[in-house]
Amino acid sequence: MNNRSLSSHLFLSLLAVIGITSATSILVAQDTDRPWVNPKLPPEERAELVLKQMTLDEKLALLHGNGMANNPMWTMPLTHLTNGGAGYVEGVKRLGIPPLVISDAAYGIRDSGVNGRYATAMPSNLGAASGWDPESACAYGGVIGTELRAQGFDMTLGGGVNLTREPRNGRTFEYAGEDPLLAGTLDGNMMKCEQAQHIVGDIKHYALNDQETGRFIVNSIISKRAMQESDLLAFHIAISVANPAAVMCSYNRINGDFSCEDSYTLRDVLKRDWGFQGFVISDWAGTHSTEKASAAGLDQEEPMADYFGPKLKEAVDAGKVPLSEIDDHARRVLYAEFLSGVVDDPPRKSVIDVEKGLEVAQRVEEKSIVLLKNTRSVLPIIQSIHSIAIIGGHADVGMLSGGGSAQVDPPGGNAIMPPGQGETHWQDHIWFPTSPLKALRAKLPNTRIEYDSGTDLKSAVSLAKGSDLAIVFAYQWMSEDMDLPSLSLPDNQDALIEQIAAANPRTIVVLETGTAVTMPWLDKVAAVVEAWYAGSAGHKALANVLVGNVNPTGKLPITFPKSETDLPHPVIPPLPSQDQALSYAVHYDEGPQVGYKWYETQHKQPLFAFGFGLSYTTYAYSDLSVDASAKTARFTVKNTGKRAGTEIAEVYARLPRGPDESFKRLVGWKRVTLGPGESQTVTVAIDARALQTFDEATDRWNFAPGDYGVFVGASSDNTPLTASLAVR
Ligand code: BGC
Repeated sequence: MNNRSLSSHLFLSLLAVIGITSATSILVAQDTDRPWVNPKLPPEERAELVLKQMTLDEKLALLHGNGMANNPMWTMPLTHLTNGGAGYVEGVKRLGIPPLVISDAAYGIRDSGVNGRYATAMPSNLGAASGWDPESACAYGGVIGTELRAQGFDMTLGGGVNLTREPRNGRTFEYAGEDPLLAGTLDGNMMKCEQAQHIVGDIKHYALNDQETGRFIVNSIISKRAMQESDLLAFHIAISVANPAAVMCSYNRINGDFSCEDSYTLRDVLKRDWGFQGFVISDWAGTHSTEKASAAGLDQEEPMADYFGPKLKEAVDAGKVPLSEIDDHARRVLYAEFLSGVVDDPPRKSVIDVEKGLEVAQRVEEKSIVLLKNTRSVLPIIQSIHSIAIIGGHADVGMLSGGGSAQVDPPGGNAIMPPGQGETHWQDHIWFPTSPLKALRAKLPNTRIEYDSGTDLKSAVSLAKGSDLAIVFAYQWMSEDMDLPSLSLPDNQDALIEQIAAANPRTIVVLETGTAVTMPWLDKVAAVVEAWYAGSAGHKALANVLVGNVNPTGKLPITFPKSETDLPHPVIPPLPSQDQALSYAVHYDEGPQVGYKWYETQHKQPLFAFGFGLSYTTYAYSDLSVDASAKTARFTVKNTGKRAGTEIAEVYARLPRGPDESFKRLVGWKRVTLGPGESQTVTVAIDARALQTFDEATDRWNFAPGDYGVFVGASSDNTPLTASLAVR
């Protein structure tokens, strides 16, 4: 101890002895020695102050992981400190910098089962995006952040914002859809509120990690302009809303370079152009080099130390990596810890507030459910219905969840497994114990509700025939590390639905899917409800929607195509032989035409358009005017039906002729709540970020001068109001 710290130590002991333990006195005492403990200083200043005190080894320790729990492939001497999570990064104890204790947490905390803990499963990220509701996104992140802290973690690996370029991508359910403004806004709000719980926030997988086939090698080939106006825009918006402490670079390559050593996306765009001050963390085993990755802007290797451990030190000693680069990496990790609040308020293990989690999960799912079709007035189900046949989808015991590193473990284990055999693996098909059958019975006590598994067609058909109403529960499981072979429902469910619909014209299909599905039976069923992966309280939310206690408001955040042949890539390029692995590429020649933009340009009619969703009431739009200087659209929405409801009013714009673009772009939206017969005039800001074009020659964003078309309505293919916005 030097003289200064000795005297402050004595001073503190004296305070303790005489009983003065107020935080201010301690702070004053510590301040002299450790000025960075002062929470009033900006995080960058605090980081700089600590950095000055650190040895090279302490700095280097911040730049790599120490293994991953529950994974024998990734074990290091400090792996036992991961708290059962995905990673652990040493802090600097002598300077009061806590370690990073990292967990996956896309729709809830991973690995609670093996760790003997509980975590709430929120609806899938894509499901929640159907609410178009930043407030719900915030509540979603808030629950995950609080639960992470209660479990003893201080860093999340949630925050997936990759655009749905490829709806068969096995991780589509972890992301927020196909539009950069919608996905960026929602993911950003989720992570902002998660980080506000004093958790190091993360946005991932940066960038163009848009399919899982060949995920460790695939080369995503796309022009700078196209990536800027699509995938990168989603990241930029999410990052500017959340101000996340970390960004995870992805496994794939981008125009040749691995994303974790791609200087264009990391150094030039993320750090220089966007001014990102946090740290770049590699996806797990996504680091491929020392000098190249370090120079390109990777700050921290995970989960091991293959390139950023001893090799990085050697490179520094040999003068191949300048000390200034090490300082920059370390400063960013320190900044992240100060920014997120984990230095001032490290996590304390506690009992998770289960009730709170369930309440938010239900509220979010009630806004996530999308009513896709409703004829013959089958929905909402009225109390006078005498009998309902519930068929398939294990609806007697539970509802499906999405797999991979996003998987949240269900209480009691997998609901479709016998008790005691419920231990979950990352690619098991896992049903939560959230039985829609039980939830519906609770809502309709006077209705005879019976279940048939659907495995014996004859018995399912006979139950459907003898009931007033049939509800088929259909599922489509998906996971990280694999893409779907097609968008068809698996396990002969199309045939099951056809047969039930033939037996009972009042057939409702409830979908539990992670992405779009094709529906060859659509014309034959009376109603279709998209419930997504519905989370820990999904059955209750669904029952509320089915019986009309909740009027559905959700709208699709992705297009549902009629068939895979309508996709920009009808077939995902097959993997080459091992020795040709590095030739594997996907050419995104469709550029920024992701989702609805593609269908509009190609004049293809989707099955259900981006932004589409019905309600139990109806709405009319009128009186659009555009304020060119304020860049706002003003219009009136009227509830023309008999029930109160909330309409998501959507605003799109089309660029003036010139920048070779014939599709609309979503530029704003508003959730408008209206009683029966009520109208409201609303003003929606037109988001400039969604309107600009990126000029590769000057590396700049521009407004193309001219007359922009402005379109307002209920979905991307139903915009009855049009106006023009002049940009000079
Ligand atoms: C996934 C990441 C995840 C990481 C740690 C990787 O396989 O791509 O999303 O955060 O593993 O589990």
